[in-house]
Parts: sequence; structure tokens; C-alpha cells
Amino acid sequence: MSAYIEQLIQTIADRNQGEPLFTQAVEEVLHSLEPVLSRHPEIESSNLLERLCEPERQILFRVPWEDDEGRVQVNRGFRVEFNSALGPYKGGLRFNPAVTLGMIKFLGFEQIFKNSLTGLMIGGGKGGSDFNPKGRSDAEIMRFCQSFMMELHRHIGEKTDVPAGDMGVGAREIGYLFGAYKRLINRYELGAITGKGVGYGGSLGRKEATGFGCVYFATEMLAEHKLQLERKTCVVSGSGNVALYAIKKLQNLGARVLACSDSTGTVYDAAGLDFNALRLIKEIERCSLSKYPMIHSRAEFRPNKKVWEVPCEYAFPCATQNELDLSDAETLVEHGCKLVAEGANMPCTPEAIHLFGEKGVLFGPAKAANAGGVAVSALEMQQNATWTQWTFEEVDQRLQAIMKQIHKSCLFYANRYGQPGNYAHGANTGGFLRVAEAMFEFGVT
Ligand code: GLU
Repeated sequence: MSAYIEQLIQTIADRNQGEPLFTQAVEEVLHSLEPVLSRHPEIESSNLLERLCEPERQILFRVPWEDDEGRVQVNRGFRVEFNSALGPYKGGLRFNPAVTLGMIKFLGFEQIFKNSLTGLMIGGGKGGSDFNPKGRSDAEIMRFCQSFMMELHRHIGEKTDVPAGDMGVGAREIGYLFGAYKRLINRYELGAITGKGVGYGGSLGRKEATGFGCVYFATEMLAEHKLQLERKTCVVSGSGNVALYAIKKLQNLGARVLACSDSTGTVYDAAGLDFNALRLIKEIERCSLSKYPMIHSRAEFRPNKKVWEVPCEYAFPCATQNELDLSDAETLVEHGCKLVAEGANMPCTPEAIHLFGEKGVLFGPAKAANAGGVAVSALEMQQNATWTQWTFEEVDQRLQAIMKQIHKSCLFYANRYGQPGNYAHGANTGGFLRVAEAMFEFGVT
């Protein structure tokens, strides 16, 4: 590692103490940039990397709300506006009790490069709250969202900062958030939030986009290596929006998905998971996967087990950060897994990624593989800007073209900077260069 990068990583670690997820994300990117730095000395001389690692703006706020018992609850709200070189800050909101500023900074940082890779005009940001939506009534969720927006509305806008969903924020929450925003600003500003309901300005295909996009990306990786998806066994971790639609697309393309999971455990169904049963349990009833065997008695629910124990040919981590560690990676390799494509943000630990590289497992990094969600968010903004709505097929075709292009860029940049075939490397350098070029043209900003 160059002395400069080593020193920079130290500076970032010192400056962001107690934020291990953020420093993990930064280190991963900075390590990839060594060959870029040696060809572009102006990056070091203009201190561009230090600027890139410091959010342009960080907003922290109190979110007071009343629960159904009339008790006043207090949560913390965050919006990190990380980088606006390529467009308005763009990224989701995460509602989860584990949310901290460091987590939002890691997600916002990743978003910069992911959004850049889409080739669309979107900067990077992220937000959320340590609010736990689990077990809360619709009325409580609504009051929380309204209070959250009471502060957030002054910071967002179609040309300023455009939030969307992430973990804990789906169609219901986006509806409450948009309803509150519209009322507070007294304007029907459609493009200020994405992931909206299709009846009031949302894009067809947005719900499916992250999961579908991840599978499209994997399909490109497989084709590049003369492999296919048909009749192959897959496992998908998680059972939220990303996982569900990754499962659906995998099945549509002829693969057999044997297992998925939630915070209570793993469901294993040798016949292939039933998408409609999963949708009913997770999207409609919002309950534990332990219910799945009540619908299909052939299936097995394994409490507190990870999906990685189920032997498979291709694996799709679609749950959360650092969910797939070195020992999980070893298990996958032992079972002959040939491809891992990340649907979640940073689900594989650095040690796991390293092992995949050593063992020749194809690895599709989150910044590239899960960019489909935010890409279709940008398409939603385009539709909103022209007050039009495209068909599902039109959106899906554009999504496929974008995922193909991202795959091509990853290979191009990996090759150009001396790491042929290394998708993670290509995603980091390709994503970085587009942002860096714009930042150079803006001068010291
Ligand atoms: N939360 C998603 C992500 O991690 C989507 C963000 C968006 O649509 O703005 O990329």
C-alpha cells in the first residue's frame, strides 16, 4: 500500500472514531484507487480524496412522536448529504434501531460510487432514524413519518436532495413521508422523493428494481464466464424487498432458489421457494418466516441459522451489511459456490471478499450489483420531471441496459487499472473517476 493511502486511511480513522462501518467502506475504496493515483498525481496534489471522504453536509435532528398509549417517544433523525458532484444528493432512508451516524455515513459514501456507476445525474446521500418500525401500528408509523418530515422537508427537494426507501422504509412509509412533505411545502413536487406509489407519481418497476437488477448483473457476469442460470441452485439471504424480487427474477430465469432468511432464521425449501407465499408472509402480514412451513409442509424452518449453510451454486446476500463473513465464505466455497452477487449494501466482509478472490468465486460488489434500485429511482425522477409515466416494460428494458452498462464499465476499469476481471476493483475505480472528473472541473469545492 502506498504511504499516501496509508496516511489518508489513518487520518480518516482518527477523524471518524467509533464509526467502523464508515471506515470499512472508505478503506475498501481507497485500496482500489492506488493504480489510479499513480497515473493521476493531481488527485493527491489537490487533496481530492480527503475532500471526497468528508460529507458535504450532515444533518442530525430530534424526532419526537406520540405512541398509541399517548407516551412521547424520541428518536434521532439523520440525513448525510455526501456528494453532489453529479447531481442532487440521492439515496434512501433507513429506519432501524441499529442506525447510527456512522452507519448512515457508510451508506452515503457507498451511494456516491454506486450512483456514479449508473451513468445518471445523481449525487450521493443517505438518511434514516434509529426508530424501530417492528411491532408498531400504522398510526404510529404515520405519526413518526410526519414528525420526521417536519424537520427533513427543509433540506430536501427535487433539485437538492431526493430520499427514497431502504431497510424499514417501503411503500407505506414513503406514502406518509410524501403526504407530509406535500402539505408542508404546499407544492406537488413529485421528484423530491422516489419509490412513491405508482398511482401518485411512482415508477412502475421501482419495487422490483434492486432485486431484478442484481440478477441482471449476475447474468452478465455468468455470460462473461460462459456460465448460465438455468437449472442452477441459488440461495438468497433476507426476505425484504431486495431479496423477494431477486428470488422472483431468479425463478423467472429458470434457477431454483432453495433458501432465504429473516432475523429469526432460514427457510429451506428443496422444491424451490414459493414467491407468493413469501410475499404474503413478508409484504402483507409482516411476520416471521417460521410461518412458511404452515403453507408448505415440505419446507423446513431453521431458527437462527444462516442461508449460507445450504449448499448452492450461486449466492445472493440481500439482507444487510457484514452478514457474510469469512467462515460463511469458507462454507460456500466448500460447497462449490461459483458466484456471489451482493443485493444488500456491503454484505460481505473484506475477509470473505478476499477468500472469493483467492478461490476464483465470481464476486459482484454491491456498488454495481445493487445499483438497479437507485437507477430506477433516477428514472422515476425523469418521469416526474416530464409529468409522464412509462410502462413496466419500458422501465425494465432501461434497467437491463443500465445493468449491462455497469457490468461493462466494471470490466473496462478493472482491466485499465491492472486488475482484469476484478469487478470490485472496476466498480470502485469506474465509480470514482466520474465523480473525480466533475470535482476537478468545479475547482476547490
Ligand atoms: N436504498 C437504495 C440503495 O441502497 C435505493 C436508494 C434510492 O433509490 O435512492 O441504493
